[in-house]
Amino acid sequence: MLRNCEECNRVFSHPSRGLCPECYEKAQKDFDAVRNYLKENPGATVVEVARETEVDVDLIYEYIQEGRLDVVPRDASLQCTICGASITIGRVCARCRNDLRNTMSQKAQAPKLKSRQDAKVYMIEHLKSRND
Ligand SMILES: [Zn+2]
Ligand SMILES: [Zn+2]
Repeated sequence: MLRNCEECNRVFSHPSRGLCPECYEKAQKDFDAVRNYLKENPGATVVEVARETEVDVDLIYEYIQEGRLDVVPRDASLQCTICGASITIGRVCARCRNDLRNTMSQKAQAPKLKSRQDAKVYMIEHLKSRND
């Protein structure tokens, strides 16, 4: 299907991608540059990485949040989207991830305990609480 590139607004055709081929390639290059820089300079800060790779700070935070970087900048600070605890990778802290995982495994192990619905409610309650 035809769509507009999120970056340059050019019309292109791709079933799922939001970026045209050129912007997609640039996005890949930016990501590689950030990842490689951090691999070679594990103690670097977000600002240093941005300066050295010429990649936007916002974009670097996006990579961190998406958990795409093996090494995160030294001063990267993110918040758990559920409880607000400070974390260095991903979107939820280890504790909330554990909670969620327990819910999931309960659901898998005890399907008789109407747990599918319970798990759903639990998830919704969890997601709601992050907006408080
Ligand atoms: Zn584009
Ligand atoms: Zn949390």
